Amino acid sequence: MFEIENLHASIEDTEILKGVNLTINMGEIHALMGPNGSGKSTLANVLAGHPSYEVTEGSIRFMGEDILEMEPDERAQLGIFLAFQYPTVIPGVSMANFLRMAVTNVRNARAERAAGEGEEAKKMTPREFRKLMREKMALLKMDESFATRYLNEGFSGGEKKRAEILQMALLEPTMAILDETDSGLDIDALRVVSEGVNNLAGDDMGVLLITHYQRLLNYIKPDHVHIMMEGRIVQSGGPELAAELEAKGYEKLRGEVTATA
Ligand code: ADP
Ligand code: MG
Repeated sequence: MFEIENLHASIEDTEILKGVNLTINMGEIHALMGPNGSGKSTLANVLAGHPSYEVTEGSIRFMGEDILEMEPDERAQLGIFLAFQYPTVIPGVSMANFLRMAVTNVRNARAERAAGEGEEAKKMTPREFRKLMREKMALLKMDESFATRYLNEGFSGGEKKRAEILQMALLEPTMAILDETDSGLDIDALRVVSEGVNNLAGDDMGVLLITHYQRLLNYIKPDHVHIMMEGRIVQSGGPELAAELEAKGYEKLRGEVTATA
């Protein structure tokens, strides 16, 4: 589904990604780990189409389509989801209203893509949105009062994650990219993310879970684990790789990788 080949990307003329190769098939959960500054967030941003990064070499194909020239919103319509790392506070806009705008835009555009020539795309009505939101909130065991709160105003770490996971549930992406920042998650946030991913991942949704720490992988079982160092994926394996990393630490692994390179 995702085919990333020899991807090189720069920011302000500094090359950060130096030849990333990664293939993710439909419905798989991949964990991307690596030390601070190795380029994990850069990869997430480049996949989502962040305009600050320049791809200088290589290719990204998603569902068989070359997405390099696509805008972030077109990628979202295709089914790529990248959670907002630092969502802005918008006082006066409720979660429900924000999500309705974000979600109906993407879903309506998707319906238009799916509709044939001369065929009318079926738009999502506010009533349908509210029904869908109630269903997803029930699935994720979220309190309904959450929807009426103002966007990110005074949200705890766990609540910000809840907003992110709810948005993911409503968008129904085929590929969800979750970048869990190096500051790590508190225990509440960890639980929200792991329950959300475990509830939503499946045959229809693949996940690229970016995490500095092994801890999150005690709750989410990835099919594949990759380790990124200095802008490249230097090792790939199964879940045992994360455990090995936890035991050895990145420094020891770095020594081994450079010794064999
Ligand atoms: P990770 O998420 O693995 O910690 P990042 O992708 O955030 O790593 O960063 C990779 C490298 O890119 C780091 O060395 C960082 O200093 C550099 N970098 C990130 N953003 C910028 C920027 N705006 N300008 C210059 N360098 C940057
Ligand atoms: Mg990062």
